[in-house]
Amino acid sequence: MKFCSHCGNPVIQRIPEGDSRVRFVCDHCQTIHYQNPNIVAGCLPVWGTKVLLCRRAIEPRLGFWTLPAGFMENGETVEQAARRETDEEACATVNNLSLYMMIDVPHISQVHVFYRAELANLQFAAGIESLEVQLFEEADIPWSELAFPTVSRTLECYYADRITQLYPVRSEALPPSRGIKKT
Ligand code: ZN
Repeated sequence: MKFCSHCGNPVIQRIPEGDSRVRFVCDHCQTIHYQNPNIVAGCLPVWGTKVLLCRRAIEPRLGFWTLPAGFMENGETVEQAARRETDEEACATVNNLSLYMMIDVPHISQVHVFYRAELANLQFAAGIESLEVQLFEEADIPWSELAFPTVSRTLECYYADRITQLYPVRSEALPPSRGIKKT
């Protein structure tokens, strides 16, 4: 950030009085511009034994497969964001959402949240951010062509849990070594 979004004057980086972290501060209008993590919400849409994946039409990771997910918007709930992203990326309707994975990605200041969900029907299609959308059996999951480590991790857990049919809510942190690059 170079300029204050409130008054347009240049901002500087310093620790405000009473704070402990460096912030962007506008000394003209005294606004402190706090920056906080973003939430990425998505679904793991299931149809019988199959899982729905989308092949990305946009960067980052264009051409790689992902679960439908994206940045939460102001004014919506996490579950609404997960449904909206599934509709936007896969033109798919999902029911019975169950919170499943919360993965902290602190090195890029994101939290990824995935719900297990049932596809309502077989009406799905590539949305504008997808090249194609397809149902996969476990044996056909393109593990080496998955877009993000949080997607890989969510699918790994899902197939491990499917053996027992128990799906505990998981909360994990993604180590930087599994790398999602800052974009
Ligand atoms: Zn200002």
